[in-house]
Amino acid sequence: MLKVLLASRNAGKLREFAELLPDLQFVPWPAEAPELPETGAFFQDNALQKAEGAQAWWLVHGTEPVDGVLADDSGLCVDALWGGPGVLSARFAPDLPAYRDKNRRLLAMLPGEAPRQARFVCVLAFVPMGGAPFTVSGTVEGSLASEPRGEGGFGYDPIFLPEGHDQTFGELPSDLKHHLSHRARACAALRGRLSG
Ligand code: IMP
Repeated sequence: MLKVLLASRNAGKLREFAELLPDLQFVPWPAEAPELPETGAFFQDNALQKAEGAQAWWLVHGTEPVDGVLADDSGLCVDALWGGPGVLSARFAPDLPAYRDKNRRLLAMLPGEAPRQARFVCVLAFVPMGGAPFTVSGTVEGSLASEPRGEGGFGYDPIFLPEGHDQTFGELPSDLKHHLSHRARACAALRGRLSG
């Protein structure tokens, strides 16, 4: 079983990775480790920046050997907001710490007649110890609900209706999100690369 350092402290992502990639043994990013910078303009740049930053730190401070480092950069891209919040999803509305409030703010930014198309995007960067980094990605198309609904998932899940469903990711059972989601699709591509 590959032992992989997961370069993230996002509890929602951690839970999903454990469920989506049960064949990997994850080592969590330690509490004492630094925040990983993500200063790129694209998901791919940020995912690589986090994975390579985490590997560099682990090579000096790591407490156990790992086979590789995995980082996720993801976000919600709303057509009517020119693709935003996009790579800035984690930093949207910093004055509102609770996602319940961020979700309401985001919906309030859409004019009444605006198209509601949106997509979640996930780019995973994997850095094998001693090998070349690579990225894989996954997207799920959908639209924005008129108000937040459901308590499941995390982040923007309560306002996102995946295409073909009239319930949000916050309402749908987690195993269905794990079939449809951007992260599930990126994880399937990662599994292919790791086993190929
Ligand atoms: P980052 O990848 O650390 O920049 O953060 C991504 C942000 O996008 C998260 O903090 C969430 O706000 C949002 N996000 C990413 N994936 C999901 C998801 O599966 N559901 C809901 N929100 C998500």
